[in-house]
Amino acid sequence: MHADTIAAFSGGSLPAAIGVVRVSGPLACAIGDAIFAPYAKKLITKCENNKLYYGKLLNGDGKTLDFCLAALFRAPRSYTGEDMLELYCHGSRAVVEAALRRAYALGARPARAGEFTQRAFLAGKLDLARAEAVADLIDARSEREAINAAMMLDGALSRELVALRDALTAMTAHFYAVCDYPDEEIDPFAYDEARASLRRACTRLDALHDSFARGSVLREGVPVAVVGRPNAGKSSLFNALSGGEHAIVTDEAGTTRDVLERLVSLGGGLVRLLDTAGIREAESKAERIGVDRALNAAKTARAVICVFDASQPLTNDDRRAIAESEGTLRCAVLNKSDLPARVTIDELDGFDAVFSLSALTGEGIAPLAAWLAALVPDDDDLLVTSPRQAALLRAAADDLRAAAQSAEQGMTADAFLADVERAARTLGEITGDNASPDIAAAIFSRFCVGK
Ligand code: GDP
Repeated sequence: MHADTIAAFSGGSLPAAIGVVRVSGPLACAIGDAIFAPYAKKLITKCENNKLYYGKLLNGDGKTLDFCLAALFRAPRSYTGEDMLELYCHGSRAVVEAALRRAYALGARPARAGEFTQRAFLAGKLDLARAEAVADLIDARSEREAINAAMMLDGALSRELVALRDALTAMTAHFYAVCDYPDEEIDPFAYDEARASLRRACTRLDALHDSFARGSVLREGVPVAVVGRPNAGKSSLFNALSGGEHAIVTDEAGTTRDVLERLVSLGGGLVRLLDTAGIREAESKAERIGVDRALNAAKTARAVICVFDASQPLTNDDRRAIAESEGTLRCAVLNKSDLPARVTIDELDGFDAVFSLSALTGEGIAPLAAWLAALVPDDDDLLVTSPRQAALLRAAADDLRAAAQSAEQGMTADAFLADVERAARTLGEITGDNASPDIAAAIFSRFCVGK
């Protein structure tokens, strides 16, 4: 239990419909009694724990600031494991600020970023991997990301790693017991069995490590390059797909020189559209850089959308875009379908799909959106999203691989057990059992104030 009490606003930007104020620490009960007057009882400390009560929020003079809901979560049955008060008042800047001022006057201090979750971690309420999942859940921009973070928060990864670490510890303990107590009746150390289980553990850790690449796609979006000559309507398409006006729509050629990125939520996942400079024979140096970036983006993207102005006959620039995007999964967009057509589908060979649409009116955009949504990975495997966890998973897998190899080469057992012990410690760093305070601090600083 910490000696000091912390308080913070735990919502988003004010004003809002509802504002949540949290207080955690030894003074939470006293602060609750001073600032909240429930209708059901005289004091919130006389009310039941973990239940919502309606009442009055009071300022220092006993004047009513707001009518709100409050709950008292007494230690240890709270998020932080300490006494906690939560107030759900109107999301008024004045009300929230007055409530916080009052909490500070009564002895609380402003909470630092992530401090509630840090206290939860220190109280053993959640391990480090699950704390990281809290941050992932808050940051999630797609449904799939949220579901993955929720699985992590539920402890899917932690449980597996703890079980694996326990098995490794049991393996080393068994070995040492056999060595240290040769006269006792202990089952002999089965090398074959140990090797086989080390190999199995390696395979699983490798799979978890490899899920990080897919986890990155989940977090950053499936990269899709939008290429086409100037004025084909790339920026307009970009806007039509993302439903906004953030890319520049212009009649001038060559103004979009940089690669603009736009995240679009499609099919429960994210697609990262890379709006590239018009592919054409560049005149200036700056344009050349833009064109190079466009070509590069097209090469590294998961798929390419080639946009054509279908109201004009195909040009050499169009043919270049077709040639450059070859070899990648790609679709052709015959844009400006609201104008008389001058390009036919037969002219566009080698595309995985062709869509005729108008970026201006939005007509025909849905099939393209569906094609893009299908690029979002739809497996529901647990995906590691933290680079920290991925690096530790790799390190642990490497140690176990080395251990299995030593065992296979007939090395003495204590040589390979050193690797097993190191792997077990590394797994412990993922869940935070033996992570340094610096690592923990870095993780919690990722949070916003109030979480
Ligand atoms: P970009 O250079 O490829 O990014 O092309 P823009 O999106 O800037 O569009 C070039 C011009 O074509 C602008 O004047 C747009 O308003 C216009 N435009 C884009 N899409 C359409 C469309 O579907 N129909 C019509 N009629 N005009 C369009």
